[in-house]
Amino acid sequence: MIVEMRTGATPEEVDNVVQKVKSFGWEVQLNLGTDKTVVAILGSTTGQVSTDVFAVLPGVEGVTRIMKPYKLASREVKPEDTQVSVKGVDIGSKRIVIMAGPCAVESEEQMTTAARAVKEAGASILRGGAFKPRTSPFSFQGLAEAGLELLAKVKKQFDIPVITEVVDPQDVDMISRVADILQVGARNMQNFTLLTAVGRSNRPVVLKRAFSCTITEWLTAADYLLAEGNKEVILCERGIRTFEDSVRFSLDISAIPVIKKSSHLPVIVDPSHAAGHYSLVPAIAKAAVAAGADGLLIEVHPKPEEALVDGLQSLTLPNFTKLTEELKAIAESVGRYI
Ligand code: PEP
Ligand code: MN
Repeated sequence: MIVEMRTGATPEEVDNVVQKVKSFGWEVQLNLGTDKTVVAILGSTTGQVSTDVFAVLPGVEGVTRIMKPYKLASREVKPEDTQVSVKGVDIGSKRIVIMAGPCAVESEEQMTTAARAVKEAGASILRGGAFKPRTSPFSFQGLAEAGLELLAKVKKQFDIPVITEVVDPQDVDMISRVADILQVGARNMQNFTLLTAVGRSNRPVVLKRAFSCTITEWLTAADYLLAEGNKEVILCERGIRTFEDSVRFSLDISAIPVIKKSSHLPVIVDPSHAAGHYSLVPAIAKAAVAAGADGLLIEVHPKPEEALVDGLQSLTLPNFTKLTEELKAIAESVGRYI
């Protein structure tokens, strides 16, 4: 932590800061500039104390943390890449893992048709939400337990692992009985009670980035999962809210290399929720693979025009098949495969 004193701060004010630092058992390094004094605080436990403790002292201009707030998700703690293995599908390996399916589980026919087609096209994980976090309480909230049962049936029939969202900490055990991957949605990225419950489960988890959160906040949220002992964490960039309104959200493509640099966790991209429109999904998906994403989470619906949720951004089955073909060349060009 660095404490910057105001121009003209008195020696007593500087000493007051130094005494406060020493009261925590830490060391100081004083930098007496011509105009300003800077106090560097040296200690391995500074992360436990708020910067406010120093910021409120007389004569202090500002306090900056040098250490990152996240730990377990950082490369400093674990330099080598994490791979998450889901029934033989390795996320974070050379293979680009494709998870695809409808936004919400709606019917057996819908899920059966989707599962058959996405598997045939090269997807290795089936998606489908049984519990949907909706902006309005009057929107379709998902089929809940009935949707989960349908997922269980289709998963068995097509021998394909499934990813589905959990919105309530109390449902973690029930959903884990069917889900091979638990999804924590963007709106729940900082629901710390939910993160703790999912962290205690023994299921791999996809943690979607909240559309209003920084990468640092996202990685710090991942620490909640890791701190409970769940090491199988996959990050998912799905677009953030910016001033741009020609897309539903702006996909932060730079999040991929930033995550790769600062974290050991695998990162996948959801082009569907970023795009908001099916016509934009292929380009965003290709860009994500080119930028180093470890996988994609794509919404696909047998009849998008009849979808109860997110039909406009869902690919038709033929369009999804076309995309997976096109992605092969992109993957190969960056030393990966589909
Ligand atoms: C979803 O995957 O259907 C979903 C609701 O995504 P997000 O949480 O990213 O909005
Ligand atoms: Mn959706």
